[in-house]
Amino acid sequence: METFDIVVIGAGPGGYPAAIRAAQLGAKTAIVEKEQLGGTCLNWGCIPTKALIAAAETFDKIKHAERFGITVKDAAPDYPAMIGNKNKAVQQLRGGVRSLLTANGVKQFTGTASFIDRNTIEINGRAGSPLPADGAHGVTRPTERITARKIIIATGSISAMPGFLPKHERVVESRAFLEIQKLPASMIVLGGGFIGCELACMAVMLGAKVTLVELLEDILPLLDADVRREVRAHMEKNLGIRVLTGKALEKISADAKSVKGSFGDEALSADLLLCAVGRKPVTDGLKLENAGLKTNEHGFIEADDYCRTKVANIFAIGDVTGKIQLAHYATAQGIAAAENAVQTKLRKHDTIVPNVIFTSPEIGTAGMSEDDAKKQNRAVKTGKFRFAGLGKGIATGEVTGFVKWIADAGTDQLLGAAAVGPHATELIAEAAAVIRSELTVAELGRTIHAHPTFSEAWMEAAHALHGECIHAPPKRK
Ligand SMILES: Cc1cc2nc3c(=O)[nH]c(=O)nc-3n(C[C@H](O)[C@H](O)[C@H](O)COP(=O)(O)OP(=O)(O)OC[C@H]3O[C@@H](n4cnc5c(N)ncnc54)[C@H](O)[C@@H]3O)c2cc1C
Repeated sequence: METFDIVVIGAGPGGYPAAIRAAQLGAKTAIVEKEQLGGTCLNWGCIPTKALIAAAETFDKIKHAERFGITVKDAAPDYPAMIGNKNKAVQQLRGGVRSLLTANGVKQFTGTASFIDRNTIEINGRAGSPLPADGAHGVTRPTERITARKIIIATGSISAMPGFLPKHERVVESRAFLEIQKLPASMIVLGGGFIGCELACMAVMLGAKVTLVELLEDILPLLDADVRREVRAHMEKNLGIRVLTGKALEKISADAKSVKGSFGDEALSADLLLCAVGRKPVTDGLKLENAGLKTNEHGFIEADDYCRTKVANIFAIGDVTGKIQLAHYATAQGIAAAENAVQTKLRKHDTIVPNVIFTSPEIGTAGMSEDDAKKQNRAVKTGKFRFAGLGKGIATGEVTGFVKWIADAGTDQLLGAAAVGPHATELIAEAAAVIRSELTVAELGRTIHAHPTFSEAWMEAAHALHGECIHAPPKRK
């Protein structure tokens, strides 16, 4: 039986950086993956969705090119070609992960891992899932056992499919949706979280008729009300998505012709239903009990801020821990877990986690929201600046949305930020860095931002918070 210092189970954005970091620190490291290197993020999540969203945005830009004095005739989306482009990007990145693991000396096993005891893993190369389509990425034998001093669980999550949905090819979750070669002419998106909203925007921009149904009173419920208002208005008025909220989609049925459901008294019908109601942790087949581990009542493996589970030599990271289900958070946890597994001095992972949503318009948030501040009875001040007031916004025709700072009313320290509008998913990086650095509004306001850029909006919003905005009229007294 081969022995390792560290074995990582799952090669998603949590697992593979953990393995690389452990190897960098000199640990003899192995990683076990039952499907594809890169996990959900690279194969069925962040990367494929962003490739398709980039295609949809390009088409949308072409449709509106006339405002720049460009006439384009006969532009039409070729969805199979877009899927092909998406697959190419995925394959390229997957190859990159494989090379990095190999270059760092991480031994890669293909198969489903399960615990024999807290130090022994059995790898089943057959029972789990199909082997990688683009060639095996590691050692594959029917069954094999390896031992490790420390084990990092990074098995991620899969889409939840509620039992009331019919099992039919017209009813899919995001992973199956991303494989479809023909974009449906009409679709119902069930769930107004970030995955549902992103895919609804992508599909509508490529010509599908989209109805989005959300049980709660609004879509994207974790965001501040002003951010939600801005996105929803754009999705409804400018993109033409029908957004129905506050009631469940009921009586769902599917047949060879369509999928149907009712929203209150209204009957809905479409070619496809995309279910995006949440994700559930993957622990099936891990045999956690053999290692003395249990999941909590929601099925997640609990881990503390050092990524330690209740069993001393076992760490858990990423979606399976049920904390923040984002790729970059999984990576931050993975790196901290690897360091804590190899070294004696423990380190917590960071807690300022930027959140990015690739809707149209884009959204980025970091730190405390205005709603959080209210719930905590924290005295805060806010400063906002709209992109319509920026030279760059006007010059490029990208004027939807705003940025907002949330700062402590007493100390002036920046606590949180939200951006909704052009390049918000990039702009939020600056906000996350300054919040983490505990800068004040005054310090940010004095930081010179290049002109003309969208990032100037942060400086203007800081000025606005102090009532000193240059490019917005003073508030009426
Ligand atoms: C449609 C969609 C879009 C998304 N977009 C974004 C985005 O834009 N930005 C963002 O930050 N996040 C996004 N996410 C979320 C992101 O994909 C996840 O947060 C991230 O992948 C979690 O990483 P992970 O390493 O914890 O798990 P995963 O990426 O799920 O990887 C877990 C891996 O473990 C393997 N595995 C499971 N069990 C075993 C076992 N027993 N033995 C061996 N291997 C096993 C799985 O095959 C998988 O490869 C998106 C998700 C979806 C579904």
